[in-house]
Amino acid sequence: MKVTVIGTGYVGLVAGACFADNGNQVVCLDIDQKKIDALRRGEIPIYEPGLEPIVKKAVTEGRLHFTTSYAEAIPHGEVIFLAVGTPSLPSGEPNTQYLKAAAEEIGRHMNGAKIIVNKSTVPIGSHQVVRDWISSYTKHAFDVVSNPEFLKEGAAVSDFLHPDRVVIGTENEESYKKMAELYAPFCRQGNPIIWMDTVSAEVTKYACNAFLATRISFMNELARLCEKVGGDVEAVRTGMAGDVRIGKHFLYAGPGYGGSCFPKDVKALIATGRKFDLDLSIVTATENANEKQKKHLVQQVTRYFGGNLSGKTIGVWGLSFKPNTDDMRDAPALVLIEEFLKMGASVRAFDPVAMDNAKETLGDRIHYAKSSYDATEGADALVLVTEWNEFRQADFTRVRLGMKRPVIFDGRNIYLPAKMKEAGFTYFGVGRGKYSV
Ligand code: NAD
Repeated sequence: MKVTVIGTGYVGLVAGACFADNGNQVVCLDIDQKKIDALRRGEIPIYEPGLEPIVKKAVTEGRLHFTTSYAEAIPHGEVIFLAVGTPSLPSGEPNTQYLKAAAEEIGRHMNGAKIIVNKSTVPIGSHQVVRDWISSYTKHAFDVVSNPEFLKEGAAVSDFLHPDRVVIGTENEESYKKMAELYAPFCRQGNPIIWMDTVSAEVTKYACNAFLATRISFMNELARLCEKVGGDVEAVRTGMAGDVRIGKHFLYAGPGYGGSCFPKDVKALIATGRKFDLDLSIVTATENANEKQKKHLVQQVTRYFGGNLSGKTIGVWGLSFKPNTDDMRDAPALVLIEEFLKMGASVRAFDPVAMDNAKETLGDRIHYAKSSYDATEGADALVLVTEWNEFRQADFTRVRLGMKRPVIFDGRNIYLPAKMKEAGFTYFGVGRGKYSV
């Protein structure tokens, strides 16, 4: 099938490469000339495990092309995916300016009947809005389908190739059949392709992210309760996860959720409720709990140092919003580091892949360490923010000997308190009863 993907970021590049991997002829378009030039040189502009080989293979075999030209990309695709960014506006509503610009370009360059697919996470009702934007520029027939994306950064390729399910929202049976044909190779193991109406598909995307965010906020609140009553949220999590009605995913207390999706999609859902005069109180509480949680680690560290961080050196392990990605959008580490700096501390940070992206926000205000050990050199405390694998079984004797004081704040509860004590550390976790400040 001939496929066009507009927007070559975390979602668009992965989708384009995976469709091409299955034998489709794919053109990926982006307005970012530098990104397209890099891709043409064979450089992958984002860190995403497993992406590079499938992009290179599809390019070499002539199934994947990159362009900045709408005149080239739109006539090519029978199915055209919109995968541009929809970041939050200050009001919490998604900014649809990139979606509009892309839709208008589609309209201008249509050369026949097309299926236009909203893969970006878009405000509920956007299928109609996109339809209007396109039809003001063309008389050609087209349908607008909602096909929300559920991939996780850090596991995006494998999620795309083996999705739990594919959601297709359209009232048009022909469009559904075409989409089902495109996705059939990814759904050969019984993972369903779920056909529903367009609005329900749009709601489903927000429902999933808001629900997962709610689980995290719930656990973060329980963690704060555990700190008061002397329980260990890790034990509580294990006890809960054993209940099949609850399941084991997204029950981890930590520094608050971040990334390019949860914060923005939760805000967008609240804004949608507001638009329809509906108080989505659970989602609002999720957001409020997260804002509190983002400050929680800082408060623990500050309390430990008697309210004064001036002149202290804090080592930070992990900057990206989660492991296996270089994405720094809404990363909890940014909030934390800004607070440390505000209070007069200096920061030595290390992340295996996100340092360049972190520099764009933090500039030269912190020391970017050469290794995880370099980040702890002379530090008064180490704060683990992102649970990259290499931090899990670090050489803690080496860490301790390099630090000014052997104090560790484990923002993801990846360490066993007893082991840390044995290694000579004063240990604090999130919601870990007696290991609370
Ligand atoms: P991104 O910022 O990584 O990529 C967006 C790309 O779109 C950029 O390369 C940008 O240059 C390009 N772009 C902007 N305007 C354009 C235009 N008019 N024409 C062509 N290209 C244009 O964003 P992302 O993380 O890939 O997210 C894209 C969408 O998918 C968002 O709506 C997001 O909410 C949704 N989503 C993201 C994820 C994720 O994990 N990142 C998961 C599911 C859904």
